[in-house]
Amino acid sequence: MEVKTSLLDNMIGVGDMVLLEPLNEDSFIENLRKRFDHNEIYTYIGSVVISMNPYRSLSIFTPEKVEEYRNRNFYELSPHIYALADEAYRSLRDQDKDQCILITGESGAGKTEASKLVMSYVAAVCGRGQEVNKVKEQLLQSNPVLEAFGNAKTVRNDNSSRFGKYMDIEFDFKGDPLGGVISNYLLEKSRVCKQPRGERNFHIFYQLLSGASGDTLTKLKLDRDFSKYNYLSLDSATVNGLDDAAVSLYVLSQNAMQIVGFMEDEVQLVLELVAAVLKLGNIEFKPESRVNGFDESRVKDKNGETMEMCELLGIEQSVLERAFSYRTVEAKMEKVSTTLNVAQAYYARDALAKNLYSRLFSWLVTRINESIKVGLAKTRHKVMGVLDIYGFEIFEDNSFEQFIINYCNEKLQQIFIELTLREEQEEYVREGIEWTNIEYFNNAIICDLIENNQNGILAMLDEECLRPGTVTDDTFLDKLNTICAEHQHFESRLSKNSKFLTDHSLPHSCFRIQHYAGKVLYRVEGFVDKNNDLLYRDLSQAMYKATHSLMRQLFPEGNPAKVNLKRPLTAGFQFKASVGGLMRNLQTKNPNYIRCIKPNDKKAAHIFTDSLVCHQVRYLGLMENVRVRRAGYAFRQPYEPCLERYKMLCKQTWPHWRGPASIIVHVDVPIILLMPTLFLCPQLFTLEERRRACLEDLATLIQ
Ligand code: ADP
Ligand code: MG
Repeated sequence: MEVKTSLLDNMIGVGDMVLLEPLNEDSFIENLRKRFDHNEIYTYIGSVVISMNPYRSLSIFTPEKVEEYRNRNFYELSPHIYALADEAYRSLRDQDKDQCILITGESGAGKTEASKLVMSYVAAVCGRGQEVNKVKEQLLQSNPVLEAFGNAKTVRNDNSSRFGKYMDIEFDFKGDPLGGVISNYLLEKSRVCKQPRGERNFHIFYQLLSGASGDTLTKLKLDRDFSKYNYLSLDSATVNGLDDAAVSLYVLSQNAMQIVGFMEDEVQLVLELVAAVLKLGNIEFKPESRVNGFDESRVKDKNGETMEMCELLGIEQSVLERAFSYRTVEAKMEKVSTTLNVAQAYYARDALAKNLYSRLFSWLVTRINESIKVGLAKTRHKVMGVLDIYGFEIFEDNSFEQFIINYCNEKLQQIFIELTLREEQEEYVREGIEWTNIEYFNNAIICDLIENNQNGILAMLDEECLRPGTVTDDTFLDKLNTICAEHQHFESRLSKNSKFLTDHSLPHSCFRIQHYAGKVLYRVEGFVDKNNDLLYRDLSQAMYKATHSLMRQLFPEGNPAKVNLKRPLTAGFQFKASVGGLMRNLQTKNPNYIRCIKPNDKKAAHIFTDSLVCHQVRYLGLMENVRVRRAGYAFRQPYEPCLERYKMLCKQTWPHWRGPASIIVHVDVPIILLMPTLFLCPQLFTLEERRRACLEDLATLIQ
């Protein structure tokens, strides 16, 4: 008992919120703050890890720390992300349970860093040997490659992931890593052409221009000067602490690509496409008047940029220029050619740049997967999935991208609610344990509002995109508003429950959703376009004609032999399907949660803004999480293994036991002897007794 008390005394604040007294929002936040002030950035709620972003390097991620946490029980040491990683890894290895690590929190809260810490911990403790080390290195080095191409500086985060990533790491029966599979989710490709104020394009552009040798740049026909490129914003070309040239992030990315298994010529092909995107952004158009009064667009090419781009990709300049002036619509056996005006040509140019870049990104993921995939011979394996997906975003201007990102976060919150709040409570009721229901906000209603097949927002957007006639963002908005007003069922789902908020005070062309994490005002401008994600066929055909081998691969629909008149799937539809698949995958695994919290809005160390933290604690449902955890039992085990382990302790079960294992809860045994297993007859104990027993358990563990 004394040992235990001293453990608690040494701890800053309370390490597990379940033990916090008294428990209320103020004490919860105060506990987080106290721990944060003492560099204790991790706090538990039972097995859930709350992680506060320290915004500075702490010396708690050393190899010594890894050793300290290795093979230790979860509650044995002070809270740490390594404890969660260790627990997950050991359950995977020893109990053969597939695991997933779910990392959530808003943009800049520390999710990506947390995912890397988990991966590096697991890499450090699992297996040894040359072959295994190579696999580990490849898995870890996939991060810098994907970050270079998929991350960017935003106002929230200097290294913000602009794509969702889920990685399955596969292990053999001994727990040695065999390889992995990465899935990527919708890259925010609009960033390629235009960045919000104070933000940058994807890191790779800056890394290449400032880090590559003069020779490489000459080969790529690039200039070191960022300001030469329309697609690179000027106001924030260098990021504090992220100076692309000085730390030579370019070299790091290049090394990472090599380790992951890219051949030298493949790297060159990739860089050529990156250069092509920059060149593309510099292509300008001028109107050429026609007799019929319409303006037709012509490429200006005053600096020879178009020529250089065509040389890079091996495309005939006239073919590209034609694709920027005309558009062919094919229907049945007929082909109709219409001219593009200047605005349409710019639109086509940007659509091409976005598609080129995002397809290149997906190709990189596929290519990495080829390197890290598990050989067919090695069939039997266990899996640990690590999910690091873009966090909830509320900006001043929110568009289709935020809508999609926030929808994804709603789905993740839904899994958390299902598994930690709803199912847990239902389990007590099922087990016949006295239980006072704990209220929580279930966001299923918001998910439904967005994804319902009949009249969810995504379905309505798709319907609008496919409708013949004039379709604009405003007709889509009208549809949302009308259906909301007319449809009885919808009305009760939307208006009365106030998740879809319409009122006359809304700015023009906007709708608002009450997300679990706050109200977000979405501007409909661009929704239809981004959802359609159309690329004129003339352009994909021009790209397919390129002699650049990778470019051809990226535009298979440009193959004239394979003309497909079907409309491509909309971006929203594809995203919904892939998120649905992800959720089903996660539900087959044992979840481990890391809930990341951002202490301040300044990306600064040592600042803890109560109101900001409080807001996150509320919407993440952390208070409800503690309440359910506290009222419930910290330890649980299925009946069968429990009976196997403890049957010798009472006469009813020893030496003969014939009944079903579940009857054991009613057997009256001196439970106090079984302290670590307090689940046996929980009704017999008060909360106080259980807590004391837990302390004693801990004390024995420490001795
Ligand atoms: P998210 O993925 O949630 O948007 P990141 O993981 O990219 O956020 O974290 C944002 C920034 O915060 C990082 O670039 C880093 O500077 C800082 N940060 C996050 N976690 C840690 C940590 N454990 N230690 C030190 N700095 C961190
Ligand atoms: Mg991130």
